[in-house]
Amino acid sequence: MIPLQLKIEPLPIVEPLVARLVLSPKAGDPSDAVLVAQRAGTADFDVGGFSLRVHTQDPASLDGDVVLAIPGRRTIHRLIRASSAHNTFLVTEQCDQLCVMCSQPPKRYHTDMFDQFLEAVRLAPSKATIGLSGGEPLLHKERLFGFLTNAQRIRPDLRFHILTNGQHIFAEDEASLHALDMSSILWGIPIYAAHAEVHDRIVGKIGAFDLLQNNLARLGRVGAAIELRTVVLQSNIGHLEQLADHVTLHQPFAQVWAIMQLENIGYARMNWDAEFSDTSKNFDDIALALDISLGRGLPTSLYNFPLCTVPDNYRRYCVASISDWKQKFLATCDGCAIRSACTGFFEWYPEKRGFRKIVSQ
Ligand code: SF4
Repeated sequence: MIPLQLKIEPLPIVEPLVARLVLSPKAGDPSDAVLVAQRAGTADFDVGGFSLRVHTQDPASLDGDVVLAIPGRRTIHRLIRASSAHNTFLVTEQCDQLCVMCSQPPKRYHTDMFDQFLEAVRLAPSKATIGLSGGEPLLHKERLFGFLTNAQRIRPDLRFHILTNGQHIFAEDEASLHALDMSSILWGIPIYAAHAEVHDRIVGKIGAFDLLQNNLARLGRVGAAIELRTVVLQSNIGHLEQLADHVTLHQPFAQVWAIMQLENIGYARMNWDAEFSDTSKNFDDIALALDISLGRGLPTSLYNFPLCTVPDNYRRYCVASISDWKQKFLATCDGCAIRSACTGFFEWYPEKRGFRKIVSQ
């Protein structure tokens, strides 16, 4: 697994520090930390006159990375890995829902890092896409909208992918939304069933479905690009046909509908046996949902589905969606002819309790 945290020697800082690690001072930015020495297992970077010693075997792999150091901590967080297309800022761990498959179970406390995120954005590689996730980022929407406004002003070349539960977008937010460049933001919003009772039970919040419907319509009216996201569960796989009907009728303005396999982490790990649906054994419900949504012109994709778990004629809808830092392949995948196009598995995928049919192609 690619490390997102790196061990460092203690730093003499009293405020969070954002810096860009570079091998040479070519960019000349005051936030650049320039490599000045390396020896077995460590690399020293000069940050405005003091030394940042990072424990790494491969300093070159960090070139251009934007890192965050917190006072008192002996690690730095790689906020942006320059060589990766998968960079996400964790805006908050607070959330008002309690989804049965939540990969990042909510916490009560929040630390505002928007100023640090803005500095990281300033230092990001050209044309990068930055994910914003939680928890629920829109619980802090005033700060979020301010961050987006500033980020789009200083870095109009960047794109943003915001994961939100869609519960916090009200009429009074429309002016803020209109002020943003909506063409550079993709809003990833979950919907789990066409029935309020089923959706609400999955997200652990009564009334969530009705609120979501209103807010999706509102986002559609302001011209937001929406990625509807449905994780397949034992709780909803029998409802996918009705959900395909629903999204094509009520959210035809969505840019894409993503049907997703489950990630075995957080609450999903706890609820795996009750909720994981082995779609390698029976793909019928997903095939039907795809036939309906694609037939009605709604672009539809499959995220987190290893290719060999999907019938041949539906593989073209699979996206290599698993982030590089948490992606793995199995021994069975060695020598597979379609491995380079396959999303593989999450690092924490439980092979013995997962898909029955994994077959090298
Ligand atoms: S064998 Fe592995 S690499 Fe090949 S399609 Fe299946 S999961 Fe993907």
